[in-house]
Amino acid sequence: MQELTHFLGGALAKGASGRFADVFNPATGEVQAKVPLASADEMNAAIAQAAEAQRAWGATNPQKRGRVMMAMVGLMHRDMDKLAEALSREHGKTIPDAKGDLQRGLEVIEYCIGAPQMLKGEYTDSAGPGIDMYSMRQPLGVVGAIMPFNFPAMMPLWHVGPALACGNAVVLKPSERDPSVPLMLAELFVEAGLPKGVFQVVNGEKEAVDAILDNEIIQGVSFVGSTPIAEYIYTRATANGKRAQCFGGAKNHMIVMPDADLDQAADALVGASFGAAGERCMAISVAVPVGEATADALIEKLVPRMEKLKVGPYTAGDDVDMGPVVTRAAKDRILGLINSGVEQGAELVVDNRDFALQGYEDGFFVGPHLFDKVTPDMEIYKQEIFGPVLSTVRAGSYEEALSLAMDHEYGNGTAIFTRDGDTARDFANRINIGMVGINVPIPVPLAYHTFGGWKKSMFGDLNQHGPDSFKFYTRTKTVTARWPSGIKEGGEFNFKAMD
Ligand code: NAD
Repeated sequence: MQELTHFLGGALAKGASGRFADVFNPATGEVQAKVPLASADEMNAAIAQAAEAQRAWGATNPQKRGRVMMAMVGLMHRDMDKLAEALSREHGKTIPDAKGDLQRGLEVIEYCIGAPQMLKGEYTDSAGPGIDMYSMRQPLGVVGAIMPFNFPAMMPLWHVGPALACGNAVVLKPSERDPSVPLMLAELFVEAGLPKGVFQVVNGEKEAVDAILDNEIIQGVSFVGSTPIAEYIYTRATANGKRAQCFGGAKNHMIVMPDADLDQAADALVGASFGAAGERCMAISVAVPVGEATADALIEKLVPRMEKLKVGPYTAGDDVDMGPVVTRAAKDRILGLINSGVEQGAELVVDNRDFALQGYEDGFFVGPHLFDKVTPDMEIYKQEIFGPVLSTVRAGSYEEALSLAMDHEYGNGTAIFTRDGDTARDFANRINIGMVGINVPIPVPLAYHTFGGWKKSMFGDLNQHGPDSFKFYTRTKTVTARWPSGIKEGGEFNFKAMD
């Protein structure tokens, strides 16, 4: 059995706590490795080592830091196949999805090559007589990043990249479910020229996380994961005087107007709901067709498309549409919620509860499910299922559909499918959700914009990547300088001019 490690001081390092968690291959259900769970003492030592390394890194000019990012991009391309295989083996997603995960992370590293531009600061000449004023962005010091299982490459890279580019040291606590790719990325960063100790990977769970939240050296905390933990981390980190940005769960609605291209909408829904087995914070989990005729036609188009979806292990080839979910506990929870939907009166139009894959009976596979006639009081509507389950809530009007999405506690992403520009514009302006797609089902902003939800999907104010990330990982210092003017006649200072 493979024993995974931490990454400390620029090298893989064995865990010392004696505690481990199982890492599964979700396709077979087998335990394929064990990952060490750091004690608070181990975490505190890693943070202290990072603080030591940060001093020189923070003083390195931004162009040199950008060059490390540039080298990292090349190395990730070189190792793309190896990284994708390791990612799929622990997460379960297909190889094309794993490459997408890596690619979206890599794009933020590309953005970070522009660190010198992002960190230029501001300058006012002659703010007063002989007075100039300038603001500079300085690193926070050591920051902590606590990341989820569902994008084991992209999520760490979205945080580690900008934090390092700004001159910080980072202590990353990846998900204990799929920790191998973060360790491989840490090795690549050192190969790319990052000084040792500046990027530490410490595996663990609550004890390790709480040590980050309570450690006085840590100046900023970035968290991505479920909403209850996001709220807990935000509350504890900020109570300890740290800045924090904590991104939580989602329940993303897609409104389908009667004038929408229904084939396009159905194709989009199938990809956005069942891709990566629904384990995306930007997955569409609620379809809201407006009008009975739209709803009937949409369901009719969804069913045959769902029947064609190929569920299988990542090793079965690139035509597999979705793999297993991450753990047996996740599978049991998803099936439990599906049963609750049936019990509470929703119509299960596509029912794959007895789905089994020959040769992979112990794998954590869940087939795609479609509910119709879901109502807002049902658990399948209220909770984030985080699996391949699409709920249809029929709305009588555009206003009803809009209110439905607005009243939900989550506000990560949403989409509207329509041919009408007025409706689309009204929707984009009025909706209280952070990321909006117009005829685009998963509106994930690119690296140079920012990514973040509203309501219970985000605690804090600054978003992930884009200009916000450079603000989050730096502190502004403003200098007001007065120099004597009208001086240096004959090379001598005229001290009178200073009065
Ligand atoms: P999770 O909340 O279970 O775990 C996230 C991290 O928190 C992990 O590193 C985990 O070890 C740690 N953790 C778990 N319980 C903890 C506790 N009690 N105390 C301290 N730390 C704890 O989330 P997950 O299952 O890994 O990821 C899925 C969730 O992440 C979904 O809700 C999804 O919507 C969300 N997500 C959100 C975004 C976003 O940008 N909003 C992006 C990706 C995923």
